[in-house]
Amino acid sequence: MMETRTPTDKQTLIRRVRELAREEFAPRAAFYDETATFPAEDFDLLFRAGLNAPTAPEEYGGLGLGPHRADALTLWSMTKEIAKADLSLARCWEGHVNSLMLLDGCANEAQKALWFEGAVQRGEKWVAWSGEPQSRAPSETQKFGTTTEKVEAGYVVDGTKVFATSATGADWAILLVNLAGPGGIRHATGSPDTQLLLACDLSDPTIKIDGTWWDPIGMRSTVSYLVRFNRTFIPETHLIGYPGQYLLEGWQTYFIPHYAASFLGAAEAAYDFALDYLTSQNKTADPYVQHHVANMSINVDTGNLWLRHVARLWEEGEREEAQIAGSRARHVMEHLAEDVVKHSIRACGARCLNRPSALERIYRDLSFYVRHDNDDQILATIGKSILGQPHDASFYKP
Ligand SMILES: Cc1cc2nc3c(=O)[nH]c(=O)nc-3n(C[C@H](O)[C@H](O)[C@H](O)COP(=O)(O)OP(=O)(O)OC[C@H]3O[C@@H](n4cnc5c(N)ncnc54)[C@H](O)[C@@H]3O)c2cc1C
Repeated sequence: MMETRTPTDKQTLIRRVRELAREEFAPRAAFYDETATFPAEDFDLLFRAGLNAPTAPEEYGGLGLGPHRADALTLWSMTKEIAKADLSLARCWEGHVNSLMLLDGCANEAQKALWFEGAVQRGEKWVAWSGEPQSRAPSETQKFGTTTEKVEAGYVVDGTKVFATSATGADWAILLVNLAGPGGIRHATGSPDTQLLLACDLSDPTIKIDGTWWDPIGMRSTVSYLVRFNRTFIPETHLIGYPGQYLLEGWQTYFIPHYAASFLGAAEAAYDFALDYLTSQNKTADPYVQHHVANMSINVDTGNLWLRHVARLWEEGEREEAQIAGSRARHVMEHLAEDVVKHSIRACGARCLNRPSALERIYRDLSFYVRHDNDDQILATIGKSILGQPHDASFYKP
């Protein structure tokens, strides 16, 4: 029987998400992956359990969690539980809760009242789309990007975005766009002053979703499609914050450790998979198996310690240190998680990559997901910060 009351105690919150993840999300993950469909039932269950707006403030009916509020670790622990069950679902969830966090930090009171009510009362789903890589991949026949024009009483957005996570599931998208031309925010290089955040109602008939672009190795049910805007009008009332706010206030740094929490969830899932597999095969006396298990266990512990460290910095208001520590955690977590998956595969052997196998899906998902925010750029940012070079904590390159 589903609990409908909103849990508030931190441990209860994490436990409720863990139960849902184990009982509901994990058994469905293979289906969503095979069919590359948005995990709509999972979002529905999170909504019915009162867990779908963790980063909306309490005065608007949310749970008031996240690094911009006083509790980062509870949010990241919830995300980790979801990622243990299904890394694609965790990406869609992150996109949604990060967007609510951005609204909390940047939207005005009227906007918050409207949009948080939709999320809390009706389970409306959000996502944030920058996704305008400017260099064409050899297989791509078109160049991506949008233009944004100021018109009377609003803005007109025209063109394409890719990596539009939750494209077929979300109700609203925060469009990260640029008055200076294509590139969104993450792939732009000009002045932040031309960069805008626009809330876009995805039921607008001028918006077309193109799934033919999307056939990746993993993260398939994030449905991170190509989205085409055909001169989509966004009213002025949907402009969020001031131009350049996303970069100038370092909003990406609130989200970077959140990705690390998801990677850690995948690592814990691969570790648990190996423990079950090896125990059921009675291979626990093998010294090489013992080495692999020890390595996995230490990596998982290290990941959890990093996450707690970064959460504590945010929670104690050490913002600058927290920002760069978040990138350090994101870097180290990518490698710890990939290492755990490799150890799990080596300990279990070839059959663990023969479908159906949760480890086979984790391997594919993680290898693709770690491309989200480039590790080379993250490492360069950390190096610059140590060497006193000019840098931006969200590794934007002006
Ligand atoms: C599963 C998944 C979901 C995603 N969901 C979203 C989402 O919801 N919203 C969103 O906005 N984005 C999303 N992204 C997109 C992500 O943030 C990046 O935009 C995307 O990964 C960029 O594609 P790319 O790595 O092929 O290309 P690139 O960005 O071109 O990066 C490839 C390589 O080129 C290098 N490079 C990049 N720019 C330059 C340059 N100017 N000069 C020299 N070298 C350069 C990089 O360092 C990297 O090594 C998602 C990505 C994934 C994998």
